[in-house]
Amino acid sequence: MSAHQKLYEGKAKILYTTDDPEVLLTHFKDDATAFNAQKRGQITGKGEINCAIATHLFRLLEAEGIPTHFIDRPAPNQMLVKSVKIVPLEVVVRNIAAGSLCQQTGLPVGKELPTPLVEFYFKNDALGDPLLTSDRLFLLELATPEQLDHLRQQALHINELLTAFFNQCGITLVDFKLEFGVTSSEQLLLADEISPDTCRLWNQAETDPDRRVMDKDRFRRDLGNVEDAYQQVLERVLAGKIKS
Ligand code: C5P
Repeated sequence: MSAHQKLYEGKAKILYTTDDPEVLLTHFKDDATAFNAQKRGQITGKGEINCAIATHLFRLLEAEGIPTHFIDRPAPNQMLVKSVKIVPLEVVVRNIAAGSLCQQTGLPVGKELPTPLVEFYFKNDALGDPLLTSDRLFLLELATPEQLDHLRQQALHINELLTAFFNQCGITLVDFKLEFGVTSSEQLLLADEISPDTCRLWNQAETDPDRRVMDKDRFRRDLGNVEDAYQQVLERVLAGKIKS
C-alpha cells in the first residue's frame, strides 16, 4: 500500500495517509525527545527497533483478545495501522515506583506497589501533559465514567499480559504509557506504540540501579549505551513466545 500525504509529525513518528481512508502508515523515527521535548537527540536504529518491538507486543496482545490498531509491518520502520481518533489521555500503569511518581510523592525508586497504579494524564504538550483527577477528566469531557472504567480495566489487563511476557524475557515491567483511539465505527483500540520509549524496563540480571535500565531513561539520564539497551530488549522480546 503506497503512502500519500503526511498527516501528522510527532516527536517519534510520522503518520501518512494511504489508499484506504481507514488505514494509515506510521513511520517510526530515530529521533528521541524527553522532558516535553526540552531534551532532543537521536538513537541510531531506534525507529526499526521500536517498530519491531511494538509489532511483536501488539500481536501478542491481539492474540490475547485486546483490540489494537496494528495491521501489518510493511517495512522495518513502518507500521500500517487502523485510522483512529486518539483519545487525548496518556494512560500510565505502574508496578514499581519510578520517575514522576517518586518525584511527586517521595516514594523511593524501586518500591514495589501493593497493587498496580493506573493514572490518567492529559495529552496536551502546551500544558505539559498534567496528571488528571477523575473529576477534572469528566470536567474536560475526556471520557464518561463508563469509558474511564473500561480504559482502566483494559490497562490493567494489558499490564498483566505484558508483565508476564517481559518476565519470560528476564525483564521487569516497571511502568508504561498507553494511548487509545476510536475508529469511525466507535471501536476503542489500543493505539500508538509499546516500546522502550514508552515503558520502563529493568534487566532482572542486574541489581545496579543504572546498569539495569533498558529503556529511554538511559537517554533521559545520560546513562550511555542507549542503542545497546534497545537492541537487547528487541532480541529478548523476539525470543519471547506469543500465544497463537
Ligand atoms: O515520567 P513518568 O514516570 O510519569 O512516566 C511513566 C511511564 O510513562 C514511563 O514508562 C514513561 O516512559 C512513560 N511516558 C511516556 N510518554 C510520556 C510520559 C510518560 O511514554 N509523555
